[in-house]
Amino acid sequence: MQPHVVGGFVRDTLLGRDSFDIDVVVTATDNQNGITVARQLAQNWNGKVKMHLNFGTATVECRDGWKVDIVTARRETYAKPGALPKVEFSNLLDDLWRRDFSVNAIAASITPDQFGQITDPTGGMDDLKKGLIRILHAESFTDDPTRIFRTVRYASRYNFQIENQTVALLRSTLDQIKSVSGSRLQNEFNHIFEESMAVQIIQRLSALGLETILCPEWQVVPQLGERWQRIRKNLGWASQYLTSYQFNPQDFFWMALDLPNQVQKMLSFSPSLQQKLVEQTKLAHRLLEGTLTRRTKPSNVYKLLKPYSLEPLVYHLPQPQIEQYLTKLRHIQPNINGKDLIDEGWCAGPKLAQILWERFAQQLDDEARADKVENQAC
Ligand code: ATP
Repeated sequence: MQPHVVGGFVRDTLLGRDSFDIDVVVTATDNQNGITVARQLAQNWNGKVKMHLNFGTATVECRDGWKVDIVTARRETYAKPGALPKVEFSNLLDDLWRRDFSVNAIAASITPDQFGQITDPTGGMDDLKKGLIRILHAESFTDDPTRIFRTVRYASRYNFQIENQTVALLRSTLDQIKSVSGSRLQNEFNHIFEESMAVQIIQRLSALGLETILCPEWQVVPQLGERWQRIRKNLGWASQYLTSYQFNPQDFFWMALDLPNQVQKMLSFSPSLQQKLVEQTKLAHRLLEGTLTRRTKPSNVYKLLKPYSLEPLVYHLPQPQIEQYLTKLRHIQPNINGKDLIDEGWCAGPKLAQILWERFAQQLDDEARADKVENQAC
């Protein structure tokens, strides 16, 4: 099966960088070769295997966190831009030529007798030395416009130049981004969010005209860098003080982008993400109106912030009242309920709800005051 490591692992190893995801390609004497190898490895390593039968690929997840993707070598043809390709199983060279960039199309043998032997039909080693991102044929971006995002991502990550013809083709096919499905577009952004150079990548895409293509009413805000820094700080705060809740950093990066509804629809956001974005915008307006100040009573802070999910609240930190709500107020349970009031002689109805809230509000204010006194004493 001529197994070779390929793609990111080889690229990063040659650059002297760590790489933790391993891609292995095996030649296709049988369409299922990759799957067969993956199953065997999973069994040997006592790991789990996830299969994509149509593509002849599988991922083996080992117990210690390592991940190996096994690919059956293939050739790809694209019926129309942005669509998934038609796959024919094939040999190593075809598999390297179907890839995105020369630097991602280098393979190294892992058979014991040829271990480390490089196959580099597209000139990837040379481009790695020169620091160039280069596509492999003129239709590359038309076949798969997500490569536009990948080009800018790798160029920024490694501080590489984008080769001249690649830039020209990228510019001329930029419009094809619209043909990519929402979930694939979303996925490309999520990959960008994971990069340490994410802001620069988004700004470079913006300079190329990304917003105009997706939605002319959208503009990447100039203060994106500050927002990104604040998000990282706030997530650090949350990991210390809100330990029982698992935040997804991507939600916060989407919030920072201020996407108009049209783009949100285009990117097929889940209803829950859309909801968080709506809440973030509402809360931003509330805060601008100056509704929360040092003088706001804790019960009013509670009433104002209770309708929001945790993500938009954490997004808007540092803000003392939000912090007080997140760490203290939202955990306070009313020490009286409707039944207690009925026992006191009140009748069920809207008045009862009003009194219930007033009592709880009093409790919130008392507990917050006691807490403040205790903190001052400390
Ligand atoms: P990293 O994960 O560090 O960004 P990687 O190279 O491992 O880099 P993956 O997205 O995991 O990136 O892809 C693995 C390999 O699959 C790539 O190196 C490339 O050869 C190929 N590949 C991925 N996406 C595409 C694409 N859209 N078109 C062509 N080839 C691709």
